Amino acid sequence: MSNFVQKWLERLVKPLVISHHKRSGAVLFSDTTLRDGEQMPGATLEPEEKVQIALALEAAGIHSIDAGFAASSENDIKAMQMMVGKVKGPVLTSLCRTLRGDIDAADRALDGQPNHKRGVSLFCGTSPLHRRDKLQKSKEEILDLIVETVGYAADKFTVVAFSPEDASRTEVDYLCECYTKAIEAGATTVGFPDTVGILTPEKARVFIRQIQDNVPNIDKALLAVHYHNDLGLAVANTLASIEEGANVVQCTVNGIGERSGNASLEEVVMALTLHQDQFNRTHKIDTTKLAPLCRMVAELTGIRLSPQKPIGGSNIFATEAGIHQDGLLKNPDTYLPFRPETVGESGIKLVLGRHSGKRAVEHRLKEIGFAATDEEVATVLNGIKELPKGEVVDDERLKAFLTAE
Ligand code: MN
Repeated sequence: MSNFVQKWLERLVKPLVISHHKRSGAVLFSDTTLRDGEQMPGATLEPEEKVQIALALEAAGIHSIDAGFAASSENDIKAMQMMVGKVKGPVLTSLCRTLRGDIDAADRALDGQPNHKRGVSLFCGTSPLHRRDKLQKSKEEILDLIVETVGYAADKFTVVAFSPEDASRTEVDYLCECYTKAIEAGATTVGFPDTVGILTPEKARVFIRQIQDNVPNIDKALLAVHYHNDLGLAVANTLASIEEGANVVQCTVNGIGERSGNASLEEVVMALTLHQDQFNRTHKIDTTKLAPLCRMVAELTGIRLSPQKPIGGSNIFATEAGIHQDGLLKNPDTYLPFRPETVGESGIKLVLGRHSGKRAVEHRLKEIGFAATDEEVATVLNGIKELPKGEVVDDERLKAFLTAE
């Protein structure tokens, strides 16, 4: 097929794909663990490790992967080149400034990937602060820059995203003008980044509504959101935007990223999954892949999870409290919002400690092969209650209590 015919076909198919996504009501997950996540101090990943995470994201059903920033580092180019042809499901994108050189670098890094599975994600500051102090450019100059570079990117790429950096602090009428021009110039996705993480769910909702109401050609592009967690609201803002009609949500595994991080992928997915009645939106993420994915990213980045981190933390399915242990043994649903298997965990962990009761002790003894009498269970429990602060009871200690009488 000649280049010309291929281009012509792509132009024909593109709007159909976009309108299909928009009408289907599906929430498309974009993951930026490998780009914004890796920007977190100390989270550096080797190219091989990035490929490993990209493949796990693919297996989890991610729609697109922000694979790196080609113009910024040789390692990012290397990682992207290694993903080409190997990561087949998700669209791989490279971050770009509104510079031709960045788009060319992305083009080289993603060379060999099928056209509909590769893209660029352009960004340019649009807020008064960015215009005046960072870019020293007028509103008009920035609009021209957007039109010029989005157009340039659209000649090379089928998938072109444009995001006004610091969108949440940009005048809304100017913001809508930027989106309108970007879509006219060929953007297939427009992003709404809350770059410094200052929004609340209500304010995010108003922005998403206003963009949809005031960008006349918004039906020609997907609307994506990218939230930071500086106020601990990234997940809440993402969910509010989904409810308001955003098509794409960009997250990171474990919520890693700049400063307080980004919206956590696993939390957004689980909230969406458990509240189908509220959101009425489908998604393609396999929730049973989430907990193993969280562990993999924690291990490879070296950014450890706090024990109480939702979904992936080590305490999520562990309990030491007697009443909870008793309830969980009768029916796990009594004290859990969802079963461990839902997110790919093996089961509930009953931790034996000062707060435990006899049911849990009896249960664990039986599991390790001891059918203890009530009296023996009481003896073991007394031993546990007298343990020094912070000490936990492993199976060896349990057996020692039992045989010590
Ligand atoms: Mn960011």
